[in-house]
Amino acid sequence: MNLLVLGPQGSGKGTQAARLSEDHSIPHVSTGEMFRAAIAAGTGLGRRVEPILASGDLVPDDLTVSLIRERLSEPDAGKGFVLDGFPRNLAQAEGLDAMLAEIDRELDAVLFFDLSDEIAVERLRGRAEDEGRDDDTPEAIARRLEIYHEQTEPVVERYRTTGKLVPLHAERSIEAVAVEIAEALELLDEEAVA
Ligand code: ADP
Repeated sequence: MNLLVLGPQGSGKGTQAARLSEDHSIPHVSTGEMFRAAIAAGTGLGRRVEPILASGDLVPDDLTVSLIRERLSEPDAGKGFVLDGFPRNLAQAEGLDAMLAEIDRELDAVLFFDLSDEIAVERLRGRAEDEGRDDDTPEAIARRLEIYHEQTEPVVERYRTTGKLVPLHAERSIEAVAVEIAEALELLDEEAVA
């Protein structure tokens, strides 16, 4: 199963992506986590992206697209993946389309975590206290949400036109959203069989 989760910061998409990864035995491919791992390991990539992440800006598309290209070519992604944090703009969405076409695969569903900015900011403040991520400062949070509206919302609209978009009520509890996702995926399965 090839899945993509899309939505603003604090929408709970990472949490649900981790559950989907476990339930369906497919890797959870999170660009944010990959960049943070590179920073923690002190690699060349890590040194390059560290100040970018701290500011809340986007890492350049060429770096991000090639990172994903390599990751999806690893054996564990052979039976599917859940992509989280990518694509974040239209150029990346085109990059993803091209690489999926090359390996003759398609997205099964794009799960869209719909959430108001008020709730997103409230949740991010809570997360900042719990996790202490370097980019959960008020400035970086504002920048990330701004980029989300400017650059990632057009990606949502793009997938809406393909009929792959599954809108979710992301303000509800983790459990309620998980049930909504399971129901949507079951429906897709039935459609595939029919
Ligand atoms: P959040 O969704 O809370 O912003 P992420 O872990 O998804 O957190 O991303 C953290 C940071 O990693 C982003 O602010 C950005 O700097 C970088 N990043 C993650 N994914 C991408 C991407 N697809 N393109 C460019 N930069 C990215």
